[in-house]
Amino acid sequence: MADSGIPLIERAEKHKGRVAISIMGGDFTYSQLLETSSGVAAGLLAGQKDLKGQRVAFLTPRNFDYPAIQWGIWRAGGIAVPLCEVHPAAELTYTIQDSGASIVVSHPDFTPTLAPIARKLNIRFLSTDRIPNGNHQTLPRVASERPAMILYTSGTTGKPKGVLLTHHTLQAQITTLIRAWEWHGDDRILHVLPLHHTHGIVNVLCCALWAGATCEMLPRFDAARVWQKFMDGNITLFMAVPTIYVKLIAAWKESTPEQQQTLSKACARLRLMVSGSAALPATAFHQWQTITGHALLERYGMTEIGMALSNPLRRERKPGYVGAPLPGVNVRLVDEDGGAVPAGASGEIEVKGPSVFQKYWERPEETQTAFRESWFRTGDVAIEEEGSYRILGRQSTDIIKTGGYKISALEIEEVLRTHSDIAECAVVGKEDPEWGERVCAAIVLREGASLSQAELRKWGKERLAPYKVPSNAIFVKRLPRNPMGKVTKPIVKKLFIS
Ligand code: AMP
Repeated sequence: MADSGIPLIERAEKHKGRVAISIMGGDFTYSQLLETSSGVAAGLLAGQKDLKGQRVAFLTPRNFDYPAIQWGIWRAGGIAVPLCEVHPAAELTYTIQDSGASIVVSHPDFTPTLAPIARKLNIRFLSTDRIPNGNHQTLPRVASERPAMILYTSGTTGKPKGVLLTHHTLQAQITTLIRAWEWHGDDRILHVLPLHHTHGIVNVLCCALWAGATCEMLPRFDAARVWQKFMDGNITLFMAVPTIYVKLIAAWKESTPEQQQTLSKACARLRLMVSGSAALPATAFHQWQTITGHALLERYGMTEIGMALSNPLRRERKPGYVGAPLPGVNVRLVDEDGGAVPAGASGEIEVKGPSVFQKYWERPEETQTAFRESWFRTGDVAIEEEGSYRILGRQSTDIIKTGGYKISALEIEEVLRTHSDIAECAVVGKEDPEWGERVCAAIVLREGASLSQAELRKWGKERLAPYKVPSNAIFVKRLPRNPMGKVTKPIVKKLFIS
């Protein structure tokens, strides 16, 4: 009996015979996950009684090793620090050092990068194929108030900060989604997301394991393989970032008309498809609906708070909106002084509730300024219309103040994307002595298309208020993005500094 004290792990007892993880090479039951993670915990403890919150940084591909190591760390009383597969050595070193990890666990694929880092920092190094499995010992009981995980924020502004989550917080983040999206044991979700970020860890993996469902992991995202998985017919749930849906749409378009019909039909077998972590372009929402019949469920959340707002499971989902607060999550919109904004006005989203994180790791000042009383200040601006929230963007990079107007970069991007020559775009504000900020756009043109600044301005003036039309546009091959596929606006801004 796994009397671990950790809610997610204790629940696994009920699902022992079911398949927890499915990968190309085979299926792993909840029983195997309990058994293997217990061996990992024993290997990490190496005779100690409890890791007592020692940080264990780990990196594995998207396979059974990941939950086995994550649960092993938790069962040994440690704090899991998942690393990012595509980070270079300098960023991995930063995360390991900043979290003060005392152990690094690595799949052999990453040993050439991680072993030298561990050696240099004088940290214990374990390869996943050498953890002394089977050498079980009595494991500690871990109270759910204890810290479980440190997730590093995407770092779109400043150095990444470690977000500390307890088991109890994780439970709140998981259970609100279990309720809202009606997860159940017969679900099977296809996992194609990075495993160092809340979307892939909490919304996909942890929710599946909480529900007693099956998480099918694809080692890497590949549009054709995802379509194939939909066609295989077992998948009931899919969650991804907008860029993934855009790639799936592109792959569909490249198929023959007969193939397109088969692909479209396959999607009827899924019960829910979710998009989040960045704004879903309305064009992608409509194209996906035409192709698959699914109105993507868009939700809004953040590493620090888990998910806060979601479109409804059973009612109409509106493109461009992220819905209403999830069960147990308190959301309010405030002005710069923290006062409630009048109905229909925009304001900063603040969030309170059991799913909100405890603190930034070893950053008391940043933690203090991140909260207003007990409300977490997200830094995102939104507007509430007919009970549904619309995200206007990040206060720091997406809200542009020009000539006395406050405008949303996301709204301008939405309009620019309707231009037939524009494939992708990112709008930012550039400091300007006359206007405060000027609206600037980085644009990726469709293959073979050409567009001049003057043409864009003329087209823009017919669709946008004059002060919203980009006064400066540059044409680039691709937009800078982070490992989650999110456009990194501070880097876009630099493109306009000559
Ligand atoms: P992260 O902590 O990496 O998940 O990033 C969270 C940030 O992503 C939020 O603060 C928002 O700026 C953005 N975000 C997440 N979901 C959405 C969404 N549905 N629409 C617009 N922005 C979003």
